[in-house]
Amino acid sequence: MLICKDQDVWSKFLEFIQKRISESEYKNWFSHIEVLNSNENEITLQVPSIFVQEYILDNYKKDLLIFLPTTKTGELAINFVIKESEKKKIKSPILPPSINNQDDTNFNSQYTFDNFIEGPSNQFVKSAALGVAQKPGKSFNPLFIHGGVGLGKTHLLHSLGHYIRTHHKRYNIKNITTEAFINDLVTNLRNKSIDRMKRFYRNLDVLIVDDIQFLQNRPNFEEEFCNTFESLINQNKQIVIASDNPPSHLKLSPRLIARMEWGLVAHIGIPDLETRVAILIHKANLKGINISNDIAFFIAERIYSNIRQLEGAVNKLAAYSKLVNSKLTKEVVENILKEMLSFTPQKKLTVENILKSVATFFEIKASDIKGESRLKKIALARQVAMYLSKELISDSLQKIATSFGGKTHSTLLHAWKKILNEIKVNQTLQKQIEIIKKNIEA
Ligand code: ADP
Ligand code: MG
Repeated sequence: MLICKDQDVWSKFLEFIQKRISESEYKNWFSHIEVLNSNENEITLQVPSIFVQEYILDNYKKDLLIFLPTTKTGELAINFVIKESEKKKIKSPILPPSINNQDDTNFNSQYTFDNFIEGPSNQFVKSAALGVAQKPGKSFNPLFIHGGVGLGKTHLLHSLGHYIRTHHKRYNIKNITTEAFINDLVTNLRNKSIDRMKRFYRNLDVLIVDDIQFLQNRPNFEEEFCNTFESLINQNKQIVIASDNPPSHLKLSPRLIARMEWGLVAHIGIPDLETRVAILIHKANLKGINISNDIAFFIAERIYSNIRQLEGAVNKLAAYSKLVNSKLTKEVVENILKEMLSFTPQKKLTVENILKSVATFFEIKASDIKGESRLKKIALARQVAMYLSKELISDSLQKIATSFGGKTHSTLLHAWKKILNEIKVNQTLQKQIEIIKKNIEA
């Protein structure tokens, strides 16, 4: 009777706490605890690890005090026993690499906030990242950064990591790509050290995860990631994620998508011409070469959708400058960067080539342009693509219109006229179309 009554104390506590915390938190921290002994004066609990013991004392002491026996001085009268098999695992001398290497955050030393050039396309996301770095776990959590390839997502993640490293020295940070996380899981599953991996991740203060899109279509790994995610968020630990698409566009479970949308979802866009020029000059300075404003504009006007390509251009110019000690004139630059800058409309230019360039510029999918959506941005992109197709392709109007998801030739003609008139009065659109034109790859 007595045992039954005393075990009740623990069951009652469980019943109480289960209603107050998430399912995964409950599963992580309480489902593996067993009552070994219990009487009016004290209770002996078997826990899977010292981590669990410390965690529940740190986080649930107040609740435990309501239900469990206490000493005369009001302290909890719990004896903890660590489960034998788990104890052995903890003592295991071979640690898998990722766990062994808590300091190995792999931050690129160049990827700092100081080296990140701001412009209208990235100002917001940069301040969000800085805000998070200043107060990890206390502002936006999670911070979810998304945008196209080579636009600075990884750079920002590392900047945030450097900042926390410098300003919050005691924080335990892990910076990992989604692929590395999956590899970690696989290795630890193979080594039967999965519990230790879980403990490691769940004891972090900051988890930075790059390229979360690689978690798509991998449900088993997704579940483990989701559990880690929830466990950290529940403890107010900071999570920062980067992805090529916003959460709602990722093929992940609704549960994980909802979690990722909890905090702040921030978009990083294609930088405008001035920002690209500033980035180019900055990168050139880092490489120790001098590029005049004229040349910077010349390059930035021609490479627009990817900062990594701009950087590639700077690297080429730097390599050239080292070999040949002559001034970088426009002609020289044009010659060195020939392949990167070239735009020569070929005879075989197709509507698909045009759609690709237009879609990249407007950051939408080519299939959206072919579709029926009347969203302002998509409708404008469609008209621009139709205009360029009529201008650049010599096929019949009907044939071109059919390539736009089966539109009629009068729709095409209407769009063409509209843009033709618009660019006479709208210089911005005129420039945008020039850029799109230059970036059409036949
Ligand atoms: P992503 O992760 O979005 O694909 P990265 O962060 O790897 O892109 O950026 C690609 C390159 O462009 C990096 O070398 C990065 O330093 C540079 N870069 C991107 N945006 C900026 C910026 N605003 N200022 C300076 N460098 C930038
Ligand atoms: Mg990246």
